Amino acid sequence: MKVDLLIIGGGISGAGIALEAAKRGVKALLVEREDFAWGTSSRSSKLVHGGLRYLKQGALHLTWESVRERDQLLRDAPGLVEPMPFAMAHNPGAKPGRATLQAGLMLYDLLAGRRTRGYADAAQMQWLVPGLPALSGASLYEDATTDDARLTLRVLQEAQSLGTVVRNRTELLALRRDATGQVIGASLRGPDGFSQDIECRCAIAATGAYLGELAAQTGLPAPKIRPLRGSHLLLPLWRLPLSRAVAWSHADDGRPVFAYPWQGALLVGTTDLDHPDLSLAPRITAPEQDYLLRALNQAFPQAGLSARDIRSTWAGVRPVLDSGAGVDPSKESREHLVLAHQGLVAISGGKLTTFRRMAREALAKARPWLPMLGPETGPGILLPAAAGAGIPARLSGRFGARATEVLAQGRQPLWGQTLTGELRHSLQHEQVHHLDDLLLRRTRLGLLASDFGRSLLPALQPHCQQLLGWDAARFEQECQRYLALMHDQHKAL
Ligand SMILES: Cc1cc2nc3c(=O)[nH]c(=O)nc-3n(C[C@H](O)[C@H](O)[C@H](O)COP(=O)(O)OP(=O)(O)OC[C@H]3O[C@@H](n4cnc5c(N)ncnc54)[C@H](O)[C@@H]3O)c2cc1C
Repeated sequence: MKVDLLIIGGGISGAGIALEAAKRGVKALLVEREDFAWGTSSRSSKLVHGGLRYLKQGALHLTWESVRERDQLLRDAPGLVEPMPFAMAHNPGAKPGRATLQAGLMLYDLLAGRRTRGYADAAQMQWLVPGLPALSGASLYEDATTDDARLTLRVLQEAQSLGTVVRNRTELLALRRDATGQVIGASLRGPDGFSQDIECRCAIAATGAYLGELAAQTGLPAPKIRPLRGSHLLLPLWRLPLSRAVAWSHADDGRPVFAYPWQGALLVGTTDLDHPDLSLAPRITAPEQDYLLRALNQAFPQAGLSARDIRSTWAGVRPVLDSGAGVDPSKESREHLVLAHQGLVAISGGKLTTFRRMAREALAKARPWLPMLGPETGPGILLPAAAGAGIPARLSGRFGARATEVLAQGRQPLWGQTLTGELRHSLQHEQVHHLDDLLLRRTRLGLLASDFGRSLLPALQPHCQQLLGWDAARFEQECQRYLALMHDQHKAL
């Protein structure tokens, strides 16, 4: 196989590069060694946001880029990227105070070119967020939320529709180089265990927190990464029925924490702790769970929430550039990093929200080896998706131009808003190799449904049998693997 560009890593960064390259006439192959969005891109806080905290760090440029990209994604993918109103509670003596936050929000609005900020006094807050004692009122603003894994899959789907080849469970064994050291190809190993050599003009590695491992494997001179873990809780929404996102400062350490309604559940986040050993899959620890529960009970004392209320948990790892100063994790810069060396470009860090801008930077670095790279197109990030009559926004957001096809596969709800058609489409077209691919990333049922969706498993069996050819023994084996993984990485402690 001969391509212009090899992309290593199938998270949002790799997917974004694949789409941007395809739009600009570059023939690419993307390989992901686990599953698409298996890394941080399915384990984020799922906000498409400007990042108010970056303003505090003085990163105006990062905030400006982020709010612009947020607004473009809201236009491109309604139903997948959706506005979320926020209330940041003020209490006497707590930081940031009203004046500071309102000044920050004014700047946030200015950078976005539209006004969303407001203020609600304590009496109004009783209506907006019942149960939250915001004695000094709350500042109001708007950001957006998404389904991070589905956003990654939508971007990949569009890259594929423009000719990019994407393969999961395919690992980079080695890069191949000419006598001068320039990358000319790669050896890959696919899901069947066979290796294959391909030719390419250059490669871009978008391996997220695994940049260090890739650098060691390929000889790329890369700076030190400080992997930081952020953990989350998911609770049934009826335990704390919020209709908007609420952010407040944790009484223990003043860090911002938040809770918001997500896909019919309550998402709570997050922590920011060193995760030095990347060979250990990220999972919440008991102190992190206690920290987040304490935050909830500080803000909503009457809800009386405990570990028994938690439906599922997850943790993701941020590849943050190590300043080497041993500073508090939350103070490390969130800027991304792009490097180029002898036909290998590497990109790491950044945000889900800014994937297109990161893709453009990576491709700009690869330009010397990609003479066919066309000009940037825009302003759209995703390809236009005609929302046909009767197609729920949820489907056109997730499946773009293929939404009609998905609906034709089955309109019956499987669980919550997830339709049987979504499941069948994923089994047929989205390279599902294991049950956890289906329940954790193609759908989010593993996190959303009680007991990790165990009671749904019998209903999935005929679809897996028909579309993947799994016999009863294979299905049973997949169920065991899936439940073991959920207990290991996603349960409440
Ligand atoms: C706790 C947390 C919360 C966050 N919340 C937000 C948020 O709300 N909003 C936001 O905008 N951003 C958020 N972010 C940031 C955002 O999630 C990440 O920047 C983004 O997901 C990183 O995507 P990526 O593709 O670079 O990395 P990843 O998603 O980690 O993808 C890298 C992929 O590369 C693969 N890979 C590694 N090595 C190889 C190899 N040798 N061969 C093939 N494949 C390989 C891995 O399997 C992995 O799938 C958050 C991050 C964290 C940690």
